[in-house]
Amino acid sequence: MSGDLGMNRRILLFPLPYQGHINPMLELASLLHSRGFSITIFHTQFNSIDSTKHPSYEFISIIDGNTSNHFNLNDIPSRIVAHNNNCEQPFHDSLRKYLSENKGVTCLVADLHWYKIHAVAKRLGVVSLVLRTGSAASLRWFTSFPVLRAKGYYPLPESEKDELVTELPPYRVKDLIRMDKSRIEDFATLVELDVEAAKSSSGIIINTFTAIERKEMDKLHQELCVPIFSIGPLHKFTCQFQSSLLPQDRSCLAWLDTQAPDSVLYVSFGSLALLNYEEFVETAWGLANSWQPFLWVVRPDLVCGTKNVNMPDGFDEEVKGRGMVISWAPQLEVLAHDAVGGFWTHNGWNSTLEGISEGVPMICRPFFADQMGNARYVTHVWKVGMELEGKLERRIIEKTVRSLMREKEGDEMRERMRMLKKNASDCTMADGSSYLAINKLVDHILSS
Ligand code: UDP
Repeated sequence: MSGDLGMNRRILLFPLPYQGHINPMLELASLLHSRGFSITIFHTQFNSIDSTKHPSYEFISIIDGNTSNHFNLNDIPSRIVAHNNNCEQPFHDSLRKYLSENKGVTCLVADLHWYKIHAVAKRLGVVSLVLRTGSAASLRWFTSFPVLRAKGYYPLPESEKDELVTELPPYRVKDLIRMDKSRIEDFATLVELDVEAAKSSSGIIINTFTAIERKEMDKLHQELCVPIFSIGPLHKFTCQFQSSLLPQDRSCLAWLDTQAPDSVLYVSFGSLALLNYEEFVETAWGLANSWQPFLWVVRPDLVCGTKNVNMPDGFDEEVKGRGMVISWAPQLEVLAHDAVGGFWTHNGWNSTLEGISEGVPMICRPFFADQMGNARYVTHVWKVGMELEGKLERRIIEKTVRSLMREKEGDEMRERMRMLKKNASDCTMADGSSYLAINKLVDHILSS
């Protein structure tokens, strides 16, 4: 059943409009398209996707009334609720019209956080599946949240921040998802609605693979009672790099070609994390003083309160020839480059999975949401990264960079990473766990 279907079966996809959610959804689109499905992508005006880069798919724009980024970045739950409220009716109208004009729609795959979109699909008789773009462990945090809250973990007790959470190991209190700038009630409601959407879906697709999260997947199966498909790392099944919202500076690839193997530290904090100006300056001088070649992604809005940050005085001259700063990288290609030997990351799940897939050991500096939990797995479960904790200070940065790139501790992590990289590659082979899960997913979609 899992072969080529001809282009008469159509899957509708709706990513949440953020880079870390759009990338895996478009990777999934490419994968399903390669299995013979036709693809229709719904997208918002806010962070809209450039449809001209994906000529094989059909695109439908949802008029959500948001063309600019005026949300409060600190309050992510409220942003997600606002997206749901803004899109519910326009999506309903679009989907109803679409169904009246088109045959052969098999299902909708929408992000976990699109709880109202899943409900609309159900009302209109369309089977819906959830895509969870984070880890299986982070989804277990969602299902465990009511218990954690009842046991007094929210607000997170500062005095117990290093204690193990016995209800959800291996997380410590400080690794639990935190939304300090949001009201706990808003946060709790969102989690509840997301879990409800997951439980009432026809299946959950997770961008992970069993070799790294077998136990977590088993527990989720017991807790959610719906079919779960771990089919990651999704980017390993596709060769499309076309989902970037920002223009990529590809000149860094030629610069990497001039560097020695495993010598360059790649530094990126993803699409949303912010530094304050002092942290930014300390990071710049920590990298410069480490005397390790580096490639650093400095998004124009990386520093709180600025739209176009300038590098500190004297920095460019100091690092000339041994450091490169760009505003957005072709990250998958950078991580796959032979010259890259370390990854200083914020541990967004995509970056974490991409680093593992290319066997690059990490310096972990998580900022918010699931990033602390991802860093916990990297540093303490898979032991392929070191955490950079506490105040960002140039001497500590310098020391951590040296330790990862030039000392025994880093070498041991690099060695363990080689094994994880092999696992990530093996699971995509014809008898690998993710490959087989994709076959099951295709059969599940066709039988629903
Ligand atoms: N990314 C990229 N270029 C960059 C930085 C990030 O293409 O310079 C991509 C990266 O490959 C990943 C996504 O942006 O797929 C970021 O997702 P992640 O979950 O790591 O973090 P988020 O941005 O959601 O915090």
